[in-house]
Amino acid sequence: MSEPHIPTRESEKNIFDESMEVFHTAADLIGLAPRIRLELEQPDYEHIFYVTTRIDDRLVPVQDTAPEAAAFADLPASTPERAGLVPLASGKLILRPEALRSGALLVRDRMVRLAGKGLHRIEPGGYVRLKGYRVQHNQARGPYKGGLRFHKAVSLDLFNALAAEMTWKTAIADVPFGGAKGGLRMDPREYSRDELENISLRFMYRLKPLIGPNIDIPAPDVGTNGDVMAWLLRQYTDGERERHDLRSVVTGKDVRIGGSEGRVKATGRGLAFCIEEWFKDRGESVAGNRFIVQGFGNVGSVAAELLVAMGAKCVAVQDADGTVYDPNGIDVAKLAAHVDRPDNLRRSVVGYTEAQAIGLRDFWDVDAEICVPAALGDAIRSDTAERLKCKLVAEGANRPTSPEADAVLARRNIAVIPDIIGNAGGVTASYYEWIQNKRMEHWSEAEVNTRLERAIKGNYHLIQDIAKNRPRRTEGHDSRGFVVGREVPVRVAAMVLALKRIEAHYMLEGFSQ
Ligand code: NAD
Repeated sequence: MSEPHIPTRESEKNIFDESMEVFHTAADLIGLAPRIRLELEQPDYEHIFYVTTRIDDRLVPVQDTAPEAAAFADLPASTPERAGLVPLASGKLILRPEALRSGALLVRDRMVRLAGKGLHRIEPGGYVRLKGYRVQHNQARGPYKGGLRFHKAVSLDLFNALAAEMTWKTAIADVPFGGAKGGLRMDPREYSRDELENISLRFMYRLKPLIGPNIDIPAPDVGTNGDVMAWLLRQYTDGERERHDLRSVVTGKDVRIGGSEGRVKATGRGLAFCIEEWFKDRGESVAGNRFIVQGFGNVGSVAAELLVAMGAKCVAVQDADGTVYDPNGIDVAKLAAHVDRPDNLRRSVVGYTEAQAIGLRDFWDVDAEICVPAALGDAIRSDTAERLKCKLVAEGANRPTSPEADAVLARRNIAVIPDIIGNAGGVTASYYEWIQNKRMEHWSEAEVNTRLERAIKGNYHLIQDIAKNRPRRTEGHDSRGFVVGREVPVRVAAMVLALKRIEAHYMLEGFSQ
């Protein structure tokens, strides 16, 4: 299978500087005090550390036509116990020690022929070192908060940008947190579940001195999930006398171990609420509109499911490995079942036969009213922005639109729901999880969803009012203290809301010396 593509960046600038452009625009607009600007312009702390772990041997497929294969043409096939071999999404197999001990494996010069699978070379395991990061951007409003990303394309620059985005997002969501982000440079699909557990435990071993339930609270992001959060929780709390009091150190946990009902779907749900409001503001309904979604992980798949439940039609889905398309509508539930199949190791939409496979770049040409980027940053560049047929880009991913593309969207009159409100549902529900852990409570899913809806829609309308220079007070929100006296782009409006809320803390509390 081919390597998943990673979007290339459009600009020469580093990611952090680029991501701060909207900050500077909004800061100028509201006349942000110079010292507050200095505080926010750079992260509070940039932590870089290393995580070592042991990995098992791998079996790497060798083509029969490869020069090294000739000497092994007579190597008889082996049939090891299935449990001794763990398939990886990369096509390699993990060779567990029990497979060697079973004696069922005929090895010659590190080569083995597996029945039905062909010749393989043993790649010896051993110890590896991975680079870890945690950037803590700002904590004026509360403990640092932000996800952990396990991905091969991460860097300090990227985490600086994503941590700052969390500062803006927690302020926009009006939850009492600051901003942070971190993770590991690695491809989780290259490791077995056991190895991932060990890596996560060791990662927390290094991270523990830097975080805490009232200091910095990680959550899942790309490449991490509730399983990883459970391992992190165990490593953090094991052996602590008051360990149950520490459960709020990570959010995004499984509901059975202190996670919140509704958290898993909260980011996609928040995005769907914003899209619903966008149409409602225009006197229209989401129902009957078509959408395309890039990324079919946590955010993309849930947003798709909920948009379909609202009556919209999903016409194309793209993930890291491929794109599927059906102008008559993709059955999102069936596609999710395909992705979740145990033998679908890459958890990919590729191979879904009930829709047509199309090329990577053709995705952006698909006719639809809504485009939902819910994968990685820099997905929409100026060339793709020129081609989009939609009238609304609803950002589920973090920073999916390059500034150049943003300008193209504005020129083409394509509306945007910016990421810092579009995907704020996740951190909002994380806050509910954190409160429940602190109070040892368990809220129903209905309660979580009701609170989430009120919060997201209220903050969404505040941003729209700032954008349209429409000071007003309704039952759900009061924008009178936030408008800036003229209309501004919606992305700037979101930043104005964030900065005004953060500014209040500095203005009222002052600076300790
Ligand atoms: P995930 O790991 O569950 O899913 C990521 C999806 O993106 C997968 O389908 C993957 O195949 C796809 N993808 C990866 N690279 C791609 C590429 N180059 N082209 C097309 N598709 C690609 O991740 P997630 O939790 O759904 O997060 C997606 C985005 O949403 C990220 O930008 C993340 O930072 C953001 N986000 C997530 C949450 C959350 O609660 N999970 C909250 C806020 C923001």
